[in-house]
Amino acid sequence: MSDEAMIEVSELTKRYSGHTAVDRISFTVGRGEIVGLLGPNGAGKSTTMRILACFLSATSGSARVAGFDVFGQSREVRRRMGYMPENNPLHPEMRVREYLKFRARLKGLGFRATRARVGVVMEQCGLTEVGRKVIGQLSKGFRQRVGLADALVHEPELIILDEPTIGLDPNQIRAVRQLIKDLGQARTVLISTHILPEVEVMCSRVLIMHRGRILAADTPENLQAIMSDGGQVVAEVAAPLAALRASLEVLDGVEHWDISPAEGEYQRCALTARPGVDLRPVLFELVRGQGWRLRELTSNRHSLEDIFVHMTRVRRDEEDGP
Ligand code: ATP
Repeated sequence: MSDEAMIEVSELTKRYSGHTAVDRISFTVGRGEIVGLLGPNGAGKSTTMRILACFLSATSGSARVAGFDVFGQSREVRRRMGYMPENNPLHPEMRVREYLKFRARLKGLGFRATRARVGVVMEQCGLTEVGRKVIGQLSKGFRQRVGLADALVHEPELIILDEPTIGLDPNQIRAVRQLIKDLGQARTVLISTHILPEVEVMCSRVLIMHRGRILAADTPENLQAIMSDGGQVVAEVAAPLAALRASLEVLDGVEHWDISPAEGEYQRCALTARPGVDLRPVLFELVRGQGWRLRELTSNRHSLEDIFVHMTRVRRDEEDGP
């Protein structure tokens, strides 16, 4: 295995009585990466994470974390990895600081190291103010932070977070996302979600998972490039409708177009480009040449959501094909 790989999974399979939850997946996560495991409900994300976190055995295949085998060397793996499961089981009757100390001791930290590390992670996760509060009385956002602090307390090199923002309100989501991004500066992070914008804002690389398989593994930008057309260009142009239609009809590089009335004398044009064509300069030249007025010219690249829908649909069509 390469020195750079923090996670290395090969041909990993998990079957539950007749049902294959994870189906011969292989992937690597390099040190220092923030990788998003993206997929709909039931895709196999939690199963994969639970195997990596040494909580579940696999049916076949191999998985290594920091060079250690998750099945044969689980102590070494757990020492280097912090895991936050989907429904984080905290002790609701314990106070925040007391709980984190308890967890640190369980993870093998000595008395002094525990005191020091609990202080650090409480600071990092914004928990200093609530250290004496009972966990069961905290908001969901703060409970998530306690879960994160727990995952971090033994200074792991890798953190695995299963749906860390589920059930949070928008402000809490932003706070937790920022926290994860900050943590990712010094650590490797594997995070699962089915919320697409989450991956776009946080992750350097995405693994798209569907029905137990990995359909794609790349940067969000490269995935967007795979959808080879140039996306859609939207422009608002003040021009006589008939002349505008006639011009768009013969404009080079346009796959198809649509015009709808906009505010005032403007028309809103939505154009889809042929593969590899950037329509913005073409459209600008047209408008300038005709002496029309232009008040908006934007390019909508494919979102990760488009890519995800496209990939999972292609796969479904292949599977359901004749
Ligand atoms: P979610 O976003 O809903 O958590 P997921 O991508 O994490 O989905 P998994 O929880 O890994 O998906 O589940 C993958 C498949 O395995 C699902 O079809 C699920 O029903 C099944 N599964 C999970 N755990 C078990 C189990 N203990 N016994 C039987 N089937 C299971």
